[in-house]
Amino acid sequence: MAELSPALKQATPVVAARGEGVHIHDEDGRRYLDFTAGIGVTSTGHCHPKVVAAAQEQVATLIHGQYTTVMHRPLLRLTERLGEVLPEGLDRLFYVNSGSEAVEAALRLARQATGRQNAIVFLGSFHGRTMGAASLTTSGTKIRAGIGPLVPGVVVSPFPYAYRLGMSEEEATEFALRELDLQFATVTSPLDTAAVFVEPVLGEGGYVPAPDAFLQGLRERADRHGFLLVADEVQTGFGRTGTFWGHEPSGIRPDIVITAKGLASGFPLSAIAAPAAIMEKAWPGSQGGTYGGNAVACAAALATLDVIKEEGLVENAARMGDRLRRGLEKVAGSHPEIGDVRGRGLMLGNEFTAPDGTPDGATAQRAQQAAARHGLLLLTCGPAGNVVRMIPPLIVDGEQVDTALSLWETAVAEAVGG
Ligand code: PMP
Repeated sequence: MAELSPALKQATPVVAARGEGVHIHDEDGRRYLDFTAGIGVTSTGHCHPKVVAAAQEQVATLIHGQYTTVMHRPLLRLTERLGEVLPEGLDRLFYVNSGSEAVEAALRLARQATGRQNAIVFLGSFHGRTMGAASLTTSGTKIRAGIGPLVPGVVVSPFPYAYRLGMSEEEATEFALRELDLQFATVTSPLDTAAVFVEPVLGEGGYVPAPDAFLQGLRERADRHGFLLVADEVQTGFGRTGTFWGHEPSGIRPDIVITAKGLASGFPLSAIAAPAAIMEKAWPGSQGGTYGGNAVACAAALATLDVIKEEGLVENAARMGDRLRRGLEKVAGSHPEIGDVRGRGLMLGNEFTAPDGTPDGATAQRAQQAAARHGLLLLTCGPAGNVVRMIPPLIVDGEQVDTALSLWETAVAEAVGG
């Protein structure tokens, strides 16, 4: 009998039978509060009726109309609608199917547009598992080990991870920018640099928000040296952080924005947006792919945009994020094992630290497992799997946040006791 490959990692033994709003129901009829949202994908909740209806209608109309032969309306409409939410000027788009593919495409686009090779990434970055994206990923050696040679020209610089550096945000920002400048002054000529890839909130690396001044510093250096600033909004985009885009509070405008996960409420779809002057440097046919911009996924994305607007989900993410954060801080206040609570909007992390200051992955995993036993689905991330993250669907309400907090408190008490 065939089985799933051990190359896949499963955080809980739950087999989902049905999803509804913020809940997953397993095959035995047990209900779980899903504070993973399928790694931030089901932002409008599981099976939002509007998304379901839009997808059903599209399935019965046109499932696949490949843009190299025939254009289709959902793809054109989605492009128009994304233009309304993207930073001004990033008005040329193309579509692929996953975050990794979009990162891969952005790396190629940055090289096409600049004629330069190098890419700067930050320690703790996660950009995906395909060869180019894995080469940009530094949040765990498991993604990179044994698959080399990796794509050349990737340079790793420190991220302003204030808590782990033992610095204030200002000090960490200054440190990280200084190290980047040092890199440019010594081994990596900025003239060979095509792009810097940054996650506005470091995701798999531990849910560490990039301080505004850090993003501003990157923007300033990109302008000075003529390389592109790529915002990987795969995990932060579409309202997750309490603003539509994670980079928004910094006031900067990236040159390329990548979005995926929350874009189509669970259908595989990702988009790459850039100004015409950048996109025009990509040879026609050099980007995209067979399934990129699938009609059903585009219809689901259009419905997702409607739901986000109609239900005020960006504002809800900010409001519920505050409530969740305050509750998490309270739990951390009575458990010294949780050294830091941080994040933005509904993208929050609890970092577990051992008494000697090292990352405590074991306690974090126990807390995550205990939470699942009590009916709360969570995921870990961070340098040693020591950050338990909370990413509920953006439709979550106050009562559900409070229920999750009380389950979290129980789970943490169990984890530190045993
Ligand atoms: N970029 C970021 C910031 C991500 O968080 C992820 C996935 N966790 C990816 C890229 C890769 O996306 P995918 O798994 O859809 O390939």
